[in-house]
Parts: sequence; C-alpha cells; structure tokens
Amino acid sequence: MSQYIDGKRREALGTARDLVRDPSNGEVVAEISLAGAEDVDAAVAAARAAFPAWSGATPGERSAVLQRLAGLLEAEAEDLAQTESRQAGKPIRLAREFDVPGTVDNAAFFAGAARTLEGQATAEYSPDHTSSIRREAVGVVGSIAPWNYPLQMAGWKVLPAVAAGNTIVLKPSELTPLTTLRLAELATQAGMPDGVLNVVTGTGADCGAPLLRHPQVDMVSFTGSTKVGRTVLEAAATSAKRVHLELGGKAPFVVFDDADLDAAVQGAVAASLINTGQDCTAATRAIVHRSLHDAFVAGVADLFAAVRLGPTADPATDLGPVISTAHRDRIAAVVERSRAYAKVVVGGTVPGGELARGSYYAPTLVTGADPQSEVVRDEIFGPVLVVLPFDTDDEAITLANDTPYGLAASAWTRDLYRGLRATREIRAGCVWVNDHIPIISEMPHGGMKESGFGKDMSTYSFEDYTVVKHVMFDLTGVAAKPWHRTVFTPPEH
Ligand code: NAD
Repeated sequence: MSQYIDGKRREALGTARDLVRDPSNGEVVAEISLAGAEDVDAAVAAARAAFPAWSGATPGERSAVLQRLAGLLEAEAEDLAQTESRQAGKPIRLAREFDVPGTVDNAAFFAGAARTLEGQATAEYSPDHTSSIRREAVGVVGSIAPWNYPLQMAGWKVLPAVAAGNTIVLKPSELTPLTTLRLAELATQAGMPDGVLNVVTGTGADCGAPLLRHPQVDMVSFTGSTKVGRTVLEAAATSAKRVHLELGGKAPFVVFDDADLDAAVQGAVAASLINTGQDCTAATRAIVHRSLHDAFVAGVADLFAAVRLGPTADPATDLGPVISTAHRDRIAAVVERSRAYAKVVVGGTVPGGELARGSYYAPTLVTGADPQSEVVRDEIFGPVLVVLPFDTDDEAITLANDTPYGLAASAWTRDLYRGLRATREIRAGCVWVNDHIPIISEMPHGGMKESGFGKDMSTYSFEDYTVVKHVMFDLTGVAAKPWHRTVFTPPEH
C-alpha cells in the first residue's frame, strides 16, 4: 500500500505501478502503486479538512504528538535503518548512525521547538492603538523530497511544518518511498490526527506537478535539483504560493597553506564520500594551496584506494552504490569526458565481480581541470572530488565563490583571521572551519544563490512555515477618530 491519505494506507486510484529496487544488487524491495492527480486531490482534501483543528491545537498538544513520534522512531530505529539501506543503497552503518538518529533527534527537537513560537511585544506604537503579532500556520503545505536521504528529508519537510500547525501532503521520490510511508504511520500511532500528514507516492510529472499547482495548497516546499526547483517556482506562481526551496550544491573545501594537512585529507575523504557523494553539502571542489596540492592529492588518493566498497548490509562497508545505474552512467560520462582536459588520479571505474550487480562507482579524484570545465562546475552527485590549486587567499575565496551554488563550504586553516575571513566572504548557507558535513537540529540548513532559499531544521524554519499577522486594537472607543480628519472632516454634531 503505497499511499497514506487521511490516516490510512491505500493504493493509488490509477493502475500505474513501479518497483523499488535495492541499488546494491538490483533486487526488488517493494512494488508500489503510483499516485496521480486524483490521489493528490484526495490527499489535499484530507489536509485541508484537518487544518482547522490541528492549527487550533495548543503548541503543547502538537509537541506531545511529536515527542511520542520521536520515541516510536527510536523504538523502530533498526527496522528503519534496514529499509533505508535497502531502498537507497546506503551502507547500513550510515543508515544506523546518521540517517535514523538524525530524524529521531529532529523529531525531539521540533517537539520542544513547537512550544517556543512567539511574536514581538504587544505595545502602543500609535498612542490610540495596541498592536500585537500573531504567528499563524500557513495552511496546507505541498512538499516534494529527493531520494538521497529519504527519511531525513521527509523529517526536514514534515516536522517544522506540523510543529507550527500546518497540515501537509508529502511526495517522496518514487525511488525511495518506504521509510516516508512508515513515518506517516508512526505519526498516526503517536496521535497525529488523520489528514495532518499525507504521503502520495508517484513520479514528478504525474504526482509532483499536480501537487505544486493545486489551488488548495498554500505553500510548496521542495528539496531536489536546481533544475526542477525552477519549475517549482514557475508552478507556484500560478496561485502565488509561498515557496521554500532546498536545491543543489557544489561545495568548496578550501585548504590554506597553514592547514593541518592530515586533518584536511581525512576530512576531504569523509566529506566527499558521505552517502557515496550523493549529499547536497558534500565536498566536491577541494581548493588547495599550491604548496600543499601534491601532498593533499597523494593523501586523498591513498585513502580513496583503501575505501571498502561492498554489500550495503555489511557493517564493514564504507561505500555503497549510487542510486541507480542510470545515475551511475551519468557520473561516469562526466568523468570520461574530463579525461580530455584533466587527470583522473584514482577511480573513474565501475567495479566488477559481485559489485557489478549494483550501481557502484569507484571513489574518483580529478586534478588539473580548468575551473570553468564541466567536472568543476556541474553538480555530479557521486563519489567524485576535483582538486584545484591556488596561490593567494584572494584567489581561494574567488574560486570558492565561482559557482552558481551557495549551499555549504569549508575552510581549513589554523589562522584565526583567515578562518574568519572565509566564513564572512564565502557565499554559502553554512561555512565550517576545520570540518565539513556535521549538521545539527538546532542550526539552520539552507542555501544562497541557486541553492535556493528557506531554512530546514532550527527555529528559523518556523519563519518559513508560519505567517506573521499584525493585530491592532483601537483604544479610544470614539466614533470620530482623530486620524479620520486626514480623509474627511465630519459635520459638527
Ligand atoms: P530531483 O530534482 O530530480 O527530484 C526531487 C523530487 O522532485 C523527486 O521527488 C522527484 O520525483 C520530483 N520531481 C521531479 N520532477 C518534477 C516535476 N516536474 N514536478 C514536480 N516534482 C518533480 O532531485 P533528486 O535527483 O531526487 O535529488 C538530488 C538533488 O537534490 C540534488 O540536486 C541535490 O543537491 C538536491 N538536494 C538538496 C538538498 C538541500 O538541502 N539543499 C538536500 C538533498 C538533496
């Protein structure tokens, strides 16, 4: 049953079906029905019907549901990790230690944050009136999520939205719907009223597009590629919906000449290979001072060659497959084209043997590419790291910013002033110093430039999922108020 509408699992109304496959071996994990416009209508109607009561519940009542949800997610952590690993091709270690605990922590965080919404002080900004601020839910949110972190992305969309009193229709990627459907069931078990969280599983064209254009949807929140993000903006324009966009990235990883080289090398391997490089904040462009360039390349190449590719169920496996063979072939094609203008130092190969059953790709290190070339500029979304040399700090910052994206970046230095300069001048939604990747529920995640706008996690996300209303009370009680004279002079009584 691949749809979750109004508190119940059911199949889509149409006949379209698809198979969810394990990218590590091609085995079928589940057969799903694919939702179309009629299913979206039903889900939006359920969300609309649930909105008055849910938005009218007290923050404490909403918080209690999310607290129970955090407990249920934690109790089911191992099952969720197994499913996430199979549907997305994640090494089980990553699913156990990053994906699932991250979502448990997010749910616990938003259970607390739900009770912190507040407005500005109530005051007399005009002597004749008292003004106050109400912070209200936006309404029905239509959300669309990608396949790279299915459960975490569902959590990032759902938790702040419902904590703030909205109701939601979420479309996960059709490649990875299983943990999102389970999240919805657990939310019902936790006491979330029917219709508050609905999940429609289908393709972008047949299910995502009608959700974006639905007249009863007040806001759309989207995580995915910048290309599709542009179509989201266009669709939202048809009825001037509020938009929240978390899009692609091509994060710079800047290593200054005073950096701890060993830390930078180890950090680059972890930050470029996390989730097999299918992470919007992954380090993709190592911008390294020329004096350290060769040692950095040698260090990363050694570790890349030692990374263990293997079955995702094996806790010893470091690197899993990418999401599909089609995606693997796109990654391989970019690397193959780069051989004409750059050097593939290590990787650039499709592993054989047992791994040939899955969509594996070897960790790949590229040097000598022109900063304007495809391998440097395009989001590859795979285990591919490009290294570019620089000579001056100005050049490093210019290279870091020479991208249409602005999601994440890191600076590696032991010089306080260089670190501060990098955090100030690199245009990205997050800049780490001497680390790259850690995320926390309390801090906002979101981009600049073509990486989108709006924040996930943190209390900042409430600003996206709430509207601010000015309430003004007259204090005089008189019919002919003094300000009326600016418009008309009433006849004397
Ligand atoms: P995608 O843009 O191809 O798809 C994302 C979602 O949009 C999927 O559910 C898909 O079915 C849907 N979709 C596709 N076409 C659509 C359309 N025309 N109308 C409505 N919905 C449509 O992205 P992906 O390949 O699933 O995920 C990878 C991308 O996501 C990368 O670009 C990555 O950087 C980005 N991402 C960003 C963040 C972030 O926080 N900024 C987080 C994770 C992933």
